[in-house]
Amino acid sequence: MQELEWCGLQLQADDAYARLGAYFSAPVRPRPLTGARWVVASEQAAALLDWPAQLLNQPQLLALVAGQSLFAGIEPLAMVYAGHQFGGYTPQLGDGRGQLLAQLRNRKGELWDLHLKGAGLTPFSRDGDGCAVLRSSIREFLASEHLAALGIPTSRALAVVDSDMPVRRELTETAATLLRLARSHVRFGHFEFFYYTRQYTQLHQLMDYVLEQHYPECQAADNPMQAMFAAISQRTAELLAGWQAYGFCHGVMNTDNMSIVGETLDYGPFAFLERYQPSYVCNSSDIGGRYAFNRQVEMAEWNLTALGQTFTGRVELDALRDTLTAFTPLQQALYEQRMRARLGLEGEQAGDQTLIERLLRILQTAELDYNGFFRQLSEADAIEQLLPLAGACVVPADLQQWLQDWWSRAMPAGRDGSQRQQAMQAVNPLYVLRNALIQETIEAARQQDYAPVQHLHQLMSSPFVAVAGCEHYAQPTAPERQGWPLSCSS
Ligand code: AMP
Ligand code: MG
Repeated sequence: MQELEWCGLQLQADDAYARLGAYFSAPVRPRPLTGARWVVASEQAAALLDWPAQLLNQPQLLALVAGQSLFAGIEPLAMVYAGHQFGGYTPQLGDGRGQLLAQLRNRKGELWDLHLKGAGLTPFSRDGDGCAVLRSSIREFLASEHLAALGIPTSRALAVVDSDMPVRRELTETAATLLRLARSHVRFGHFEFFYYTRQYTQLHQLMDYVLEQHYPECQAADNPMQAMFAAISQRTAELLAGWQAYGFCHGVMNTDNMSIVGETLDYGPFAFLERYQPSYVCNSSDIGGRYAFNRQVEMAEWNLTALGQTFTGRVELDALRDTLTAFTPLQQALYEQRMRARLGLEGEQAGDQTLIERLLRILQTAELDYNGFFRQLSEADAIEQLLPLAGACVVPADLQQWLQDWWSRAMPAGRDGSQRQQAMQAVNPLYVLRNALIQETIEAARQQDYAPVQHLHQLMSSPFVAVAGCEHYAQPTAPERQGWPLSCSS
């Protein structure tokens, strides 16, 4: 633990990851941006570090995010990892453009990684340029803060800085940086790197580190590693329950993008479902649809199996298999819990699963807006207000019957209608981070107008609360703007 003064604050630095030693990372230095400009910053993310809102316009913070200055006495590092990418094993990846600037403990004692994405070349850059473009930095910033507001586990985003440095992608764009916060940047792929290079001493060191830092509650178990694998599986199930309930498609669920603490990590070509299309593939580079929306749970289990392989030296195979077998039913139970909340159902009843499945089939056939539908349910104070929805859809009788069944389940005799509405509105966003909305702010930001991204951030970090004059943001995306093509290019 090291105390340091920075920008008028007393910070508690804990170089826990660096202490693992030289096998785990390489020392690096950020490449400073030139012409650095603030794009957007998150007060809520800063608060996780106990940093006050006033800090967000300080030149010292701008210099840090622009890679122009460092915390005194803390050496940035790039982590080494590997990973299964689209099913094939890549023996060495690592932070190719991100650098761990510091690990800080907040007043609660929580450890937070400060990771600068787009910080320049590292020994793991392979043939990449070490840069992140403004477009993808804005996308990750907005999505991190929106998922957090939806109660879905995620890494966080503290700020984005733009520059005048050109970067070649399909078009020439500008280089940007994103200061990302996460409880951990250890990925499933970290374990795979040490396992497949047969560095078992380091593998066990990494396991002990993750146990101590992130799963201390497992230390008392008969086999702490077995308990930790089960806990990682549990957190991954919670993550997938959140994604599936809100129609979030990650797009690139490779094992190097899977966080060991079960947070959404490495936002790329992500999308929220517009209409309910279960087989939707948001990443135009994912030709086989490996990471289609309705395959995400299966792919998470696949990734946990890959991780489980690296635990075989410390956990019996049968125990690993039991955890893996329990994953999908556990995810399903957590998903149904979230969906019951979205539907305003109190308690748990035998017919709930069927009610949810029937709704999903209707939404798919009727091509209704997925998230918008739940909000409409939450806003109605009488079933009569909802029946016109059925009249306008292609399966009117099915939807009408469903609405009646839902109403009698959600509104048993004696339930207070406004209590149901309030409960539903606290979990059903009015504003959903649709790709077309992000795209509008990116186009403005390219002209150095950052007000639209700041405004969208405000709405999306408080997505349940209506703001006067913002009706446009609550609308479903126009059909011609849906399915925006997104690739891994970032
Ligand atoms: P991603 O698909 O963004 O999760 O990245 C996969 C791997 O490629 C990771 O090791 C990244 O650090 C690396 N990478 C992605 N983009 C770049 C880039 N522009 N320069 C260097 N490395 C990169
Ligand atoms: Mg990645």
